[in-house]
Amino acid sequence: MSESETPERAHREIHCSFCGKSQVDVDMIVAGPGVKICNECVELAANVIAETQGKPRSPQTMFQDHRSTDQLLHSLKLHDGAFESVGKAMQDIVDILREREVSWSQIGEALGVTRQAAWKRFA
Ligand SMILES: [Zn+2]
Repeated sequence: MSESETPERAHREIHCSFCGKSQVDVDMIVAGPGVKICNECVELAANVIAETQGKPRSPQTMFQDHRSTDQLLHSLKLHDGAFESVGKAMQDIVDILREREVSWSQIGEALGVTRQAAWKRFA
């Protein structure tokens, strides 16, 4: 652990938004705004895209769902907590920014709220 990492940050658990696996279950998780995706889901997506290359495009071919019923049921369960997950992801980002000593004013400005509103929501 480097000096800049706090123990709290080192133990932060993150999950793929698509399959729900944590960073200890997969090789890598990439974070985007409000979502995270693991290397396994990226590979699955790349395979789905490759399978549709050169085929005629229609709403049916552009939005094919290759997931099994069990996968869809699992995905449904994950979506049930989506809002909570986005809120937690925002809190994680704010925690990282605060660890970097970014001010509440800057965080508030990024969200279009006052310094005090940002502090009240995330502190
Ligand atoms: Zn995944």
